Amino acid sequence: MIVMKFGGTSVADRAAITRLVSIVRAARQAAIQPESVDWRGPVVVVSAIGGATDRLLGLAAEAGAGDIDGALEHVASLRSRHLDVAGVIAEPTERAVVEASLHREFDDLARLVGALGVLREVSSRWLDAIAAVGEILSSRIVAAALTAQGLAATWVDARRAIVTTDEFTRAVPLIPETTSALVAAVDPLLVARRIPVIGGFVGATTSGVTSTLGRGGSDYSAAIVGACLGASEIQIWTDVDGMLTADPRIVRDVQVVPHLSFAEASELAYFGAKVLHPATIQPAVGQNIPVRILNSRRPEDAIGTLITRDRPASARPLTAVASKTGVTVVDITSTRMLMAHGFLRHIFDAFATHRTSVDVVTTSEVSVSVTIDDARRLPDIVEALKDVADVTSEGGMAILCAVGDGLQTAPTFVAELLSALDGVPIRMVSQAAARRNITLVLAEPALADALHRIHDRFFAGVHA
Ligand code: ASP
Ligand code: MG
Repeated sequence: MIVMKFGGTSVADRAAITRLVSIVRAARQAAIQPESVDWRGPVVVVSAIGGATDRLLGLAAEAGAGDIDGALEHVASLRSRHLDVAGVIAEPTERAVVEASLHREFDDLARLVGALGVLREVSSRWLDAIAAVGEILSSRIVAAALTAQGLAATWVDARRAIVTTDEFTRAVPLIPETTSALVAAVDPLLVARRIPVIGGFVGATTSGVTSTLGRGGSDYSAAIVGACLGASEIQIWTDVDGMLTADPRIVRDVQVVPHLSFAEASELAYFGAKVLHPATIQPAVGQNIPVRILNSRRPEDAIGTLITRDRPASARPLTAVASKTGVTVVDITSTRMLMAHGFLRHIFDAFATHRTSVDVVTTSEVSVSVTIDDARRLPDIVEALKDVADVTSEGGMAILCAVGDGLQTAPTFVAELLSALDGVPIRMVSQAAARRNITLVLAEPALADALHRIHDRFFAGVHA
């Protein structure tokens, strides 16, 4: 059984939902191809229609500020947007049922907004009740759209399937409870060869109060559903082709990375490869369930990116090269002869006290260089260190990070990488003990050239 999760852009309008239906149909057909008598699924998990969650949280804020009229206007426009999307359901009975549930939800929402507007207070518990409406409705629309197209689907209420803590707006699923609830809700449907459709992001506490898993939580829901039901694969259908070998805004000829490890994906996510946050798929990777990122706009061409615990042994040392700009290098030189014990602690305490997170670190016997993204508190940090060190800094720097599990078994790779960069001025170099990446710091104007050289040398034609 596979889990197919569709993000906000993949359910954003009628055309997107039409594509979703044909993607699910193709998966269904593929599943019944083998003469297996026991084919099941898929289980479909959906996000709110694109932008709906932002709107819902926005109108909650308006209600909290006492702007009831403003909030109600937004309720009305969300209602009509959902009705418009539900227009994709051609079959009149299915459509009528969905329209009735949309009206019920939006009527409730309007009343709730009115009440909260009078109280002028929106607790995180009420925020979740409001935010959850997006996924509750998108999943109803998708279930009906599939059924109307001859793919027998059944809506599963996420509030009866995902059991969470009561940390509203960032609730954590309780796995044993969720497993029993999901099995009870979904298994009979699978046995009856129906397609369960469940809203992501949403759950409920053990006492049944609606909760959400935090922004972007639908991927997390998909991973939980897959892990609890023992799926063979989790597909994340989105609006990009997958993870890329480099930033396409800087490097021409980037390619989709066909297969990478969970740890590599985590490194890349840190550099803003926003395709998906690896922490959200941890439950799946922990159970060794493959996760595949696919483009719902181009399902025929979608090869996508596969993420598994280990990447294939045959893969080349380097998987991708990530980068970011706007970095400041801080050089800290001990004013004592040598670094006394406790010197590093002193330095990191200063950064911690002034809530500035440090990314790359290199050290010598008498000096430490670090990079920071946010230099606003730097004067305070310099002040805190003035008795033990001279501190200088330089903005306008960039981090380039070459990522690949293969580096672990390629001891000469650092030298190869640096030789590709012959003549490029480099400010810092770091290779950590896990040797999953080599990180370089250089001036922003040198970044594009450095990325191109590395990409040309290590990726040209590799995955094509
Ligand atoms: N709709 C929620 C959000 O926008 C969850 C998700 O789409 O993953 O954060
Ligand atoms: Mg998302």
